[in-house]
Amino acid sequence: MRKPFVAGNWKMNTNSYSAVALAKDVASGCSDIAGHKIDVAVCPPFVYLQAVAKALSASSVAVGAQDLYFQQEGAFTGEISASMLKDVGCAYVLCGHSERRHIIGESDELINKKVTAAISGGLLPILCVGEKISERETGQTEQVVARQIEEGLAGLGAEKVSAVTIAYEPVWAIGTGKTATAQQAQQVHSFIRKLLSQMYGEKLAQEIRIQYGGSVRPDNAAELMRQEDADGLLVGGASLKKDAFLAIIQQAAEKG
Ligand code: PEP
Repeated sequence: MRKPFVAGNWKMNTNSYSAVALAKDVASGCSDIAGHKIDVAVCPPFVYLQAVAKALSASSVAVGAQDLYFQQEGAFTGEISASMLKDVGCAYVLCGHSERRHIIGESDELINKKVTAAISGGLLPILCVGEKISERETGQTEQVVARQIEEGLAGLGAEKVSAVTIAYEPVWAIGTGKTATAQQAQQVHSFIRKLLSQMYGEKLAQEIRIQYGGSVRPDNAAELMRQEDADGLLVGGASLKKDAFLAIIQQAAEKG
């Protein structure tokens, strides 16, 4: 039985006041939502991680970072290591979010180093994968997602991969208002689980959580979560509005 997992990616939004206020609102809303049935995390910008972690310290809501660098320390101006993220209270870290792949230009090789460094540093990585619209339209969805997973997890044994959550986020659905249909999402989630089974065996494949992300809202969360291989949601825009995010969490918790 996989425990549902909802994470909110705040991207480059909020400020020192609104980040803490939103975190507190999410925490108090989650205390009414049977906390034991679902894992919830928020991923604020780096500079607000510590304040948000402090605001959430007595709650069931975890903190995640939106990125990390793979080196442990040294002359890497502007970068943040796994141990720094642990130090300020992070449990999770996004790796290979589509905005980092397609705006910043991160490669599968770099993302693999980040996933590896996250696990070595005691963090739980959320490896984001997903195809562009041109790739979907030319029938390459499975090929792209398989490459991102195989290369993103390269060199990691089953023991380490058990720390990973996969987030399937079709690029064409992120921040666009276009959600994949629940059937489209299920098709890819099921493909991912089969791939994980080939890579690591059926037992581990059944344990790894697969989130869907891409314009998740309160009005589509329940249908997405009803799919067999949907274990959670990675929420961008709607995670910045406490009522919308809590409504999404509530619906995901019903699967728990
Ligand atoms: C995301 O940032 O991972 C995301 C899915 O964004 P949105 O929900 O806004 O599409």
